[in-house]
Amino acid sequence: MGKRKSRAKPPPKKRTDRLDTVFSCPFCNHGTSVECRLDMKNLIGEAVCGICQERFSTSITALTEAIDIYSEWIDECERVNTVEDEVA
Ligand SMILES: [Zn+2]
Repeated sequence: MGKRKSRAKPPPKKRTDRLDTVFSCPFCNHGTSVECRLDMKNLIGEAVCGICQERFSTSITALTEAIDIYSEWIDECERVNTVEDEVA
């Protein structure tokens, strides 16, 4: 007898089943058109939309992942939009 204190652990979130290297495009809004490439030799990361051919490149490190390049691109887009709003 005796109550067992069994705390249900939350299941660990595993998001490593699939490498996310494909993202939605901020320009044409296509869901899976942006592909990120990491050039470890030259330490350049590039995100390219296969639909509207928009592209973004940035310097990377050995720790950079595809999602980092993509989010940097999104940040850049938002910054540009903000600037345009302020100018207008
Ligand atoms: Zn696009």
